[in-house]
Amino acid sequence: MREAAPTRKTVLRLGHRIDRDKRITSHLGLTARAFGADEVVLSGDRDPSPLETWASVSERFGGRFESRFEPKPMSLLRGASKEGTTIVHLTMYGEPAAEAIPRIPIDRDAIIVVGGSKVPGEVFRISDYNVSIGSQPHSEVAALAVFLNSWIGPIDEDSRFSGGEFTIVPSERNKIVISHEEE
Ligand code: SAM
Repeated sequence: MREAAPTRKTVLRLGHRIDRDKRITSHLGLTARAFGADEVVLSGDRDPSPLETWASVSERFGGRFESRFEPKPMSLLRGASKEGTTIVHLTMYGEPAAEAIPRIPIDRDAIIVVGGSKVPGEVFRISDYNVSIGSQPHSEVAALAVFLNSWIGPIDEDSRFSGGEFTIVPSERNKIVISHEEE
């Protein structure tokens, strides 16, 4: 397991479409949270629905996951790049994850960019790493899960997701949930 230093790992969702992407964008943020990112940034259509879902899940299941809308994602990337934040772009056209991941520093702030309808060419140029999870088209949710799990490794869920209303207790056969609401 690679030890994650206290740095900020942000997932940037490009090109969200309010009429088509509600569910997948919502799942993308939940996947970012579950697999160790600190924040998801929504861009594209201004849609409160995924932001509400992410806040609600964090309140119920704990942790300090943050989310917000960003009207100018390319400005965000340009500024972050100048400040030394690592930019990782997940794209089926990129270099294989197995080759890229060992070179991506875990001890620096990073933005992981996932696309939507159309990814601007500048994203390929501004990114420090264009990474593919297999060279076939699939889903941004699948790509993000595989990438984060391979890069960050297993996370300590007890410490990361403390402070919520509920804690899920892993079980082979039963559904065990502790409620902290009246504690
Ligand atoms: N048609 C879009 C385009 O112009 O690139 C791709 C749509 S795809 C469903 C949405 C996003 O999923 C991509 O921008 C990329 O971030 C991610 N994705 C899909 N397949 C991937 C792969 N094999 N490796 C890495 N990321 C992938």
